[in-house]
Amino acid sequence: MKIRCEASFRPDIALPIRSPLNLQLSPLIALQKLDLRIAELKEQRRKIPERLEANESPLREATRGFQEASASGEALIKERRGHEKDLEAHEDRIGKMKDRAAQLKTNQEYQAHLFEVEIANKKKGEIEEKILLAMEQIDQIQRIITGAQATLKESEAVFTKQKATLDELDRTLASELADLDIKQKQLSGQVEKTLLARYNKLKTTRKDQALALLKDGICLGCRLQLPPQLVSQVKRAQDVHTCPYCYRMLYWEGEPGTEVKGATDRDQAQNFEVGESV
Ligand SMILES: [Zn+2]
Repeated sequence: MKIRCEASFRPDIALPIRSPLNLQLSPLIALQKLDLRIAELKEQRRKIPERLEANESPLREATRGFQEASASGEALIKERRGHEKDLEAHEDRIGKMKDRAAQLKTNQEYQAHLFEVEIANKKKGEIEEKILLAMEQIDQIQRIITGAQATLKESEAVFTKQKATLDELDRTLASELADLDIKQKQLSGQVEKTLLARYNKLKTTRKDQALALLKDGICLGCRLQLPPQLVSQVKRAQDVHTCPYCYRMLYWEGEPGTEVKGATDRDQAQNFEVGESV
């Protein structure tokens, strides 16, 4: 079996007409369908990690929110404890100050003592205010933490479900791909070797589309208008013809045509036209 350019069509070595499709191309058409399905499934599988990553984004956000709120809460508790220690130490000082009062001898010393106690009490009030403020802030942050915790829990549940779905999809795709791989090997075995090599080469350079359907005189691989003689030849389905623009092997899904009766090689070559983009 030989792949030949449409311009050098030689009826003497062409296979007899086999309706509705050229038998040389039938297994290849099936193979391309399979290969395209395999490529599609592989693409779906390739995208799973990034889908998982995207699904995990709200969970990461919720985790960060919870961690930040918790850290703020801890910092505030630490601050409150610091103030409480200050207060304790300060009350201790006031106590000692008051104990010293009995030892005071002069009125002047007593007045100075009263002033000292007044200042100390004022400072005590300030520390107590700081403690109250910290406690209020702790209450607020506690509410934020509770909310963040609920969001986190919800995000975890949603992500667990999404992950399970994607894991299941990955398993299904892997299993389907394994089946298709076997079918692909079987089908490849049914294609004539030279044709298969040609197909595989074209497949690599033409983004998995080695074959192109001919429709309304247009190669659906490159969307260019094909020369009328070539269209007729492809419709006759006697041999493998390639698109002069994208080099894909052309096939026709209708009944084989008969409109090129009597055309010579020279006629066909002369009838080639420049492809028009549609
Ligand atoms: Zn083309």
